[in-house]
Amino acid sequence: MRTTRKPKLAVFKLASCDGCQLSLLDCEDELLAVAGAVDIAHFLEASSRVLRGPYDLTLVEGSITNEHDLDRLRAIRANSKKLVTIGACATAGGIQALRNYGDVSEYTRVVYARPEYIHTLARSTGVAEHVRVDFELRGCPVDKHQLLEVLNAFLNGRPPRVANHSVCLDCKRAGAVCVMVAQGIPCLGPVTHTGCGALCPRYSRGCFGCFGPAESANPPGLRSALSKVGTSKSEIARLYSTFNAAAPAFHGEHRSLTAEKDEAK
Ligand code: SF4
Ligand code: SF4
Repeated sequence: MRTTRKPKLAVFKLASCDGCQLSLLDCEDELLAVAGAVDIAHFLEASSRVLRGPYDLTLVEGSITNEHDLDRLRAIRANSKKLVTIGACATAGGIQALRNYGDVSEYTRVVYARPEYIHTLARSTGVAEHVRVDFELRGCPVDKHQLLEVLNAFLNGRPPRVANHSVCLDCKRAGAVCVMVAQGIPCLGPVTHTGCGALCPRYSRGCFGCFGPAESANPPGLRSALSKVGTSKSEIARLYSTFNAAAPAFHGEHRSLTAEKDEAK
């Protein structure tokens, strides 16, 4: 009798908080179906059982912050047929990429009694800066519905259908009143990638961009609307310096605003 081999799924963690892996474990209703469709070969957050590769589909959470993880990542890539990055850390360097604005050796001198023991890179970077990535799923953490779609797509050999419009469009679709127009609250919804269902604006809070830049995001175009509600240049720059600070569209706007501020001094 011929038996069909289930695809091997691996989940690896680099520098991260584990929140994106938890999104997979949080798929309560669908988890059994996922577990039935794949052979969970490496997922230390869920199981101590570890199978050797090669893996059919590998999810990578976390950013590259040291040489050891860079070596691990290269080995993971070599052992994976398809590799998907999950979350802001893996796609854009995460909140830890705030180090990219400063001097890491100065931080280690201030924080650690024996800084010579700290072996770290000067920048926190996303996975795609180092190895080929088959798909990047955004969010901090990722949305479980988008994650299930990505799993489904790769396991069935088709491209994932993950929308790439902005949070702003989700507000309109949900019939949510714009917090910036109606309440004067600064909001990054017009430049932020969909995924959360406009969670913050629907609760009268501005979006602070945790899903990273939407496709074709235009942060300089949003500046005048943010200024009209009284947001200063330094406050706008601060808005872009969170979970996706190193994503090119957000980083570029932060750099440009900071340079203008410095010139004005
Ligand atoms: S993207 Fe956010 S939730 Fe996911 S691992 Fe990084 S910090 Fe945690
Ligand atoms: S910060 Fe923006 S992207 Fe993140 S949950 Fe709130 S509305 Fe969604």
